[in-house]
Amino acid sequence: MKNVKIHIDGKPCETVEGITVLEVLRTEGIRVPTICYHKALRPIGACKLCAVEVKGGAGKSRVLLSCILKVREGLEIYTKSELVKKARAQALQRLLARAPRAEILLKIARDFNIPTGPIPDGCLRCRLCVRVCKEVVGAGALKMEKRGEDSYVVPTEGLCIGCGTCANICPTHSIRLEDKDGVRTLSIREEIIGIHPLIRCEACGRYFASQKFLSHVSEAAGSHVDVKAHHCYCPTCAKLFSDRAKSSSRFKRI
Ligand code: SF4
Repeated sequence: MKNVKIHIDGKPCETVEGITVLEVLRTEGIRVPTICYHKALRPIGACKLCAVEVKGGAGKSRVLLSCILKVREGLEIYTKSELVKKARAQALQRLLARAPRAEILLKIARDFNIPTGPIPDGCLRCRLCVRVCKEVVGAGALKMEKRGEDSYVVPTEGLCIGCGTCANICPTHSIRLEDKDGVRTLSIREEIIGIHPLIRCEACGRYFASQKFLSHVSEAAGSHVDVKAHHCYCPTCAKLFSDRAKSSSRFKRI
Protein backbone atom coordinates (compact mmCIF):
# COMPACT_ATOMS: atom_id res chain seq x y z
CA MET A 1 0.00 0.00 0.00
CA LYS A 2 1.25 3.47 -0.92
CA ASN A 3 1.75 6.11 1.78
CA VAL A 4 -0.13 9.38 1.18
CA LYS A 5 -0.26 12.77 2.84
CA ILE A 6 -3.62 14.36 3.62
CA HIS A 7 -4.89 17.19 5.86
CA ILE A 8 -7.49 16.76 8.57
CA ASP A 9 -8.94 19.97 10.05
CA GLY A 10 -5.86 21.83 8.77
CA LYS A 11 -3.33 19.42 10.30
CA PRO A 12 -1.08 17.20 8.13
CA CYS A 13 -1.55 13.46 8.47
CA GLU A 14 0.27 10.55 6.88
CA THR A 15 -1.75 7.46 6.06
CA VAL A 16 -2.14 4.78 3.40
CA GLU A 17 -4.00 5.05 0.13
CA GLY A 18 -7.24 3.14 -0.36
CA ILE A 19 -8.57 2.94 3.19
CA THR A 20 -11.66 4.98 4.05
CA VAL A 21 -11.56 8.46 5.54
CA LEU A 22 -13.67 7.18 8.43
CA GLU A 23 -11.00 4.62 9.29
CA VAL A 24 -8.32 7.32 9.24
CA LEU A 25 -10.39 9.68 11.38
CA ARG A 26 -11.04 7.00 13.97
CA THR A 27 -7.35 5.96 13.96
CA GLU A 28 -6.50 9.62 14.60
CA GLY A 29 -8.92 9.66 17.56
CA ILE A 30 -11.47 11.91 15.87
CA ARG A 31 -15.00 10.93 16.89
CA VAL A 32 -17.47 10.52 14.04
CA PRO A 33 -21.12 9.53 14.54
CA THR A 34 -22.29 6.49 12.58
CA ILE A 35 -25.19 4.06 12.71
CA CYS A 36 -25.06 2.04 9.50
CA TYR A 37 -21.30 1.44 9.65
CA HIS A 38 -20.07 -1.96 10.78
CA LYS A 39 -16.48 -2.98 10.30
CA ALA A 40 -17.49 -6.53 9.25
CA LEU A 41 -19.68 -5.19 6.41
CA ARG A 42 -19.19 -3.19 3.23
CA PRO A 43 -20.10 0.48 3.95
CA ILE A 44 -23.15 1.85 2.11
CA GLY A 45 -23.54 5.40 3.47
CA ALA A 46 -27.16 4.92 4.51
CA CYS A 47 -27.36 6.99 7.71
CA LYS A 48 -25.26 9.88 6.33
CA LEU A 49 -24.13 10.87 9.82
CA CYS A 50 -20.44 10.47 9.02
CA ALA A 51 -20.46 13.44 6.60
CA VAL A 52 -17.20 15.39 6.25
CA GLU A 53 -16.28 18.42 4.19
CA VAL A 54 -13.74 17.87 1.43
CA LYS A 55 -12.01 20.78 -0.28
CA GLY A 56 -11.83 20.21 -4.03
CA GLY A 57 -9.14 21.25 -6.52
CA ALA A 58 -10.54 24.75 -7.16
CA GLY A 59 -11.03 25.34 -3.42
CA LYS A 60 -14.71 24.35 -3.73
CA SER A 61 -16.15 22.38 -0.83
CA ARG A 62 -18.24 19.25 -1.02
CA VAL A 63 -19.88 17.23 1.71
CA LEU A 64 -19.05 13.53 1.33
CA LEU A 65 -19.57 10.45 3.45
CA SER A 66 -16.41 9.42 5.22
CA CYS A 67 -17.44 5.75 5.44
CA ILE A 68 -17.28 5.34 1.65
CA LEU A 69 -14.75 8.03 0.73
CA LYS A 70 -11.32 6.51 0.02
CA VAL A 71 -8.13 8.29 1.04
CA ARG A 72 -5.96 9.70 -1.75
CA GLU A 73 -2.93 11.99 -1.91
CA GLY A 74 -3.58 15.63 -0.98
CA LEU A 75 -7.12 15.14 0.38
CA GLU A 76 -8.22 18.07 2.58
CA ILE A 77 -10.85 17.03 5.10
CA TYR A 78 -12.79 19.07 7.64
CA THR A 79 -14.78 17.39 10.38
CA LYS A 80 -16.10 20.34 12.42
CA SER A 81 -17.02 22.97 9.83
CA GLU A 82 -20.44 24.62 9.50
CA LEU A 83 -21.12 22.53 6.39
CA VAL A 84 -20.46 19.33 8.36
CA LYS A 85 -22.64 20.46 11.28
CA LYS A 86 -25.49 21.25 8.90
CA ALA A 87 -25.18 17.96 7.01
CA ARG A 88 -25.11 15.91 10.23
CA ALA A 89 -28.10 17.80 11.67
CA GLN A 90 -30.09 17.15 8.48
CA ALA A 91 -29.14 13.47 8.53
CA LEU A 92 -30.08 13.09 12.19
CA GLN A 93 -33.41 14.87 11.72
CA ARG A 94 -34.24 12.59 8.78
CA LEU A 95 -33.53 9.56 10.96
CA LEU A 96 -35.55 10.99 13.87
CA ALA A 97 -38.53 11.50 11.56
CA ARG A 98 -38.46 7.72 10.99
CA ALA A 99 -37.69 6.64 14.55
CA PRO A 100 -38.45 9.50 16.94
CA ARG A 101 -38.11 7.40 20.07
CA ALA A 102 -34.87 5.62 19.13
CA GLU A 103 -32.54 6.12 22.09
CA ILE A 104 -29.45 5.66 19.88
CA LEU A 105 -30.40 8.79 17.87
CA LEU A 106 -31.03 10.86 20.98
CA LYS A 107 -27.71 9.70 22.42
CA ILE A 108 -25.85 10.68 19.24
CA ALA A 109 -27.56 14.09 19.37
CA ARG A 110 -26.36 14.55 22.97
CA ASP A 111 -22.85 13.14 22.48
CA PHE A 112 -22.11 15.12 19.32
CA ASN A 113 -24.14 18.18 20.19
CA ILE A 114 -26.26 17.86 17.04
CA PRO A 115 -29.51 19.87 17.07
CA THR A 116 -32.51 17.59 16.68
CA GLY A 117 -35.14 20.23 15.87
CA PRO A 118 -38.67 19.39 17.07
CA ILE A 119 -38.84 15.61 17.48
CA PRO A 120 -41.95 14.09 15.87
CA ASP A 121 -44.27 12.85 18.63
CA GLY A 122 -46.46 10.58 16.48
CA CYS A 123 -49.51 12.79 17.12
CA LEU A 124 -51.75 13.47 14.10
CA ARG A 125 -53.33 16.57 15.71
CA CYS A 126 -56.79 15.00 15.21
CA ARG A 127 -57.68 16.23 18.75
CA LEU A 128 -59.79 13.17 19.49
CA CYS A 129 -58.13 12.99 22.92
CA VAL A 130 -58.73 16.66 23.73
CA ARG A 131 -62.35 16.45 22.59
CA VAL A 132 -63.22 13.17 24.34
CA CYS A 133 -61.65 14.36 27.61
CA LYS A 134 -63.76 17.54 27.50
CA GLU A 135 -66.98 16.45 25.81
CA VAL A 136 -67.44 12.90 27.14
CA VAL A 137 -65.29 12.53 30.28
CA GLY A 138 -65.86 16.11 31.40
CA ALA A 139 -62.35 16.52 32.81
CA GLY A 140 -60.88 18.95 30.24
CA ALA A 141 -57.38 17.77 31.13
CA LEU A 142 -55.91 18.11 27.63
CA LYS A 143 -55.53 21.13 25.37
CA MET A 144 -53.70 22.27 22.25
CA GLU A 145 -50.75 24.58 22.84
CA LYS A 146 -48.61 26.40 20.30
CA ARG A 147 -44.92 25.72 20.79
CA GLY A 148 -42.63 27.18 18.14
CA GLU A 149 -43.88 26.33 14.67
CA ASP A 150 -46.38 23.64 15.67
CA SER A 151 -49.27 22.98 18.07
CA TYR A 152 -49.05 20.14 20.57
CA VAL A 153 -51.46 18.18 22.76
CA VAL A 154 -50.46 19.13 26.31
CA PRO A 155 -51.92 18.29 29.73
CA THR A 156 -53.37 20.82 32.15
CA GLU A 157 -51.84 19.96 35.50
CA GLY A 158 -54.11 18.39 38.08
CA LEU A 159 -57.19 17.88 35.91
CA CYS A 160 -56.66 14.30 34.70
CA ILE A 161 -58.79 11.72 36.51
CA GLY A 162 -56.95 8.71 35.07
CA CYS A 163 -59.82 7.18 33.10
CA GLY A 164 -57.60 6.26 30.14
CA THR A 165 -60.16 7.28 27.50
CA CYS A 166 -57.64 9.50 25.67
CA ALA A 167 -55.14 6.61 25.38
CA ASN A 168 -57.88 4.30 24.08
CA ILE A 169 -59.13 6.75 21.46
CA CYS A 170 -55.69 7.88 20.21
CA PRO A 171 -55.34 6.42 16.68
CA THR A 172 -51.51 6.33 16.81
CA HIS A 173 -51.10 5.31 20.48
CA SER A 174 -49.12 8.49 21.07
CA ILE A 175 -50.82 8.83 24.46
CA ARG A 176 -49.45 6.03 26.57
CA LEU A 177 -51.17 4.35 29.52
CA GLU A 178 -49.10 2.19 31.84
CA ASP A 179 -50.52 0.31 34.82
CA LYS A 180 -47.69 -0.87 37.06
CA ASP A 181 -47.64 -1.92 40.71
CA GLY A 182 -51.06 -0.41 41.36
CA VAL A 183 -50.26 2.94 39.76
CA ARG A 184 -51.57 4.25 36.41
CA THR A 185 -49.37 6.67 34.46
CA LEU A 186 -50.63 8.54 31.41
CA SER A 187 -48.15 10.41 29.24
CA ILE A 188 -47.53 11.98 25.88
CA ARG A 189 -43.98 12.48 24.58
CA GLU A 190 -42.00 12.78 27.83
CA GLU A 191 -44.77 14.78 29.52
CA ILE A 192 -46.88 13.27 32.27
CA ILE A 193 -50.65 13.74 31.90
CA GLY A 194 -51.47 12.11 35.23
CA ILE A 195 -50.20 9.62 37.82
CA HIS A 196 -52.95 7.80 39.71
CA PRO A 197 -52.98 5.12 42.41
CA LEU A 198 -55.38 2.36 41.36
CA ILE A 199 -58.20 0.82 43.40
CA ARG A 200 -58.73 -2.96 43.63
CA CYS A 201 -61.97 -4.62 42.55
CA GLU A 202 -63.97 -5.62 45.66
CA ALA A 203 -64.70 -9.02 44.11
CA CYS A 204 -61.61 -10.25 42.28
CA GLY A 205 -58.96 -8.01 43.86
CA ARG A 206 -57.57 -6.83 40.53
CA TYR A 207 -56.42 -3.18 40.21
CA PHE A 208 -58.81 -1.61 37.76
CA ALA A 209 -59.53 2.13 38.14
CA SER A 210 -58.24 5.29 39.75
CA GLN A 211 -59.91 6.72 42.84
CA LYS A 212 -60.42 10.03 41.03
CA PHE A 213 -62.22 8.28 38.18
CA LEU A 214 -64.48 6.32 40.55
CA SER A 215 -65.36 9.49 42.49
CA HIS A 216 -66.09 11.24 39.19
CA VAL A 217 -68.45 8.43 38.14
CA SER A 218 -70.14 8.25 41.50
CA GLU A 219 -70.69 12.04 41.55
CA ALA A 220 -72.19 11.85 38.06
CA ALA A 221 -74.42 8.85 38.88
CA GLY A 222 -75.11 9.54 42.56
CA SER A 223 -78.35 11.41 42.08
CA HIS A 224 -79.78 8.91 39.61
CA VAL A 225 -82.97 7.22 40.93
CA ASP A 226 -81.77 3.77 39.83
CA VAL A 227 -78.54 3.97 41.83
CA LYS A 228 -79.11 2.25 45.17
CA ALA A 229 -75.59 1.37 46.31
CA HIS A 230 -72.03 1.94 45.14
CA HIS A 231 -69.70 -1.00 44.67
CA CYS A 232 -66.12 -1.07 43.50
CA TYR A 233 -66.36 -3.82 40.92
CA CYS A 234 -64.17 -4.07 37.84
CA PRO A 235 -66.07 -4.26 34.53
CA THR A 236 -65.64 -8.07 34.33
CA CYS A 237 -67.06 -8.71 37.82
CA ALA A 238 -69.77 -6.09 37.38
CA LYS A 239 -70.93 -7.86 34.21
CA LEU A 240 -70.79 -11.25 35.91
CA PHE A 241 -72.95 -10.06 38.82
CA SER A 242 -75.37 -8.27 36.54
CA ASP A 243 -75.76 -11.41 34.33
CA ARG A 244 -76.34 -13.52 37.45
CA ALA A 245 -78.92 -11.06 38.79
CA LYS A 246 -80.74 -11.09 35.46
CA SER A 247 -80.84 -14.88 35.23
CA SER A 248 -82.02 -15.29 38.87
CA SER A 249 -84.86 -12.78 38.35
CA ARG A 250 -85.87 -14.69 35.17
CA PHE A 251 -85.84 -17.92 37.20
CA LYS A 252 -88.13 -16.40 39.83
CA ARG A 253 -90.62 -15.25 37.18
CA ILE A 254 -90.88 -18.84 35.81
S1 SF4 B 1 -57.01 9.88 31.28
FE1 SF4 B 1 -56.98 12.04 31.94
S2 SF4 B 1 -56.48 13.21 30.10
FE2 SF4 B 1 -57.11 11.15 29.41
S3 SF4 B 1 -59.33 11.34 28.97
FE3 SF4 B 1 -59.15 10.64 31.10
S4 SF4 B 1 -59.15 12.51 32.32
FE4 SF4 B 1 -58.73 13.15 30.19
